[in-house]
Amino acid sequence: MKIYLLLKKCYTIFCSRPIRKVLAFLNKHGHKKKCYICKREFNSFGLYGKGSKGVPDFIKELKLVGSDIDNYSCIFCGCHDRERHLFMYFDRLQLWDKIAQCKVLHFAPEKYIRKKILSIRPISYIMADLNPMEKSILCIDATNIPYPDKSFDFILCNHVLEHITNYKKAIDEIYRVLNFGGIAILQTPFSRVLENNFEDEGINTNELRLFFYGESDHRRIFSEKQLAGEFISAGFVLKLITNNSLFDKNTSVYYGINYNEDLYMLTK
Ligand SMILES: [Zn+2]
Repeated sequence: MKIYLLLKKCYTIFCSRPIRKVLAFLNKHGHKKKCYICKREFNSFGLYGKGSKGVPDFIKELKLVGSDIDNYSCIFCGCHDRERHLFMYFDRLQLWDKIAQCKVLHFAPEKYIRKKILSIRPISYIMADLNPMEKSILCIDATNIPYPDKSFDFILCNHVLEHITNYKKAIDEIYRVLNFGGIAILQTPFSRVLENNFEDEGINTNELRLFFYGESDHRRIFSEKQLAGEFISAGFVLKLITNNSLFDKNTSVYYGINYNEDLYMLTK
């Protein structure tokens, strides 16, 4: 492990291709981390961008709870931490069994979650995206969902609200099309430091959004307090299931998930 860390340091200084190859080889044969989805072990997950080192100080101060950018992608199957985390929550809470009995609406469907849902054959399964890249995914705007009230029993919209300008309309629409007794999973990155959402009309270019919101296609930084209040105002019953109540820190680190990201279980 010492050699691996030493090589990593050398690579950051010299960016040498042979060192990169040796690092990739050692990473693939390591056992420090494990992907919950493909079940393979290795030494470290891929970073998102430059990882936490690339995050502006301004964003660091807001202590965002969202994607684990230092433990992002699996080097074998490519799944990202948010997908792994939902898999772990759904397994532990036995939500797949419930989904099998549901009419499901899934926004921005993640590769492995959708594969799992298809395999358990729910009553119906609508995959949706504002800009679908595949025929099997319907073009649906979350702020104007073209289905009658109470059409779905389970709605997944994982890390999507931060991209939507009129996100309150999206929350209202999701509530409207959710059946009584249904569940909505609307995981969204937020700050626990902010009292209110941080959003300004003047932050209107990709460069400014990247600097102030952390991503060029994010529309704001949510305050956890405000977001939770808006879920409740829309009519949802919010049950917070903390990561730590299900997975200890060592397990979270091993599987590369953000142990600060709790599950917001929204029911109607
Ligand atoms: Zn994997």
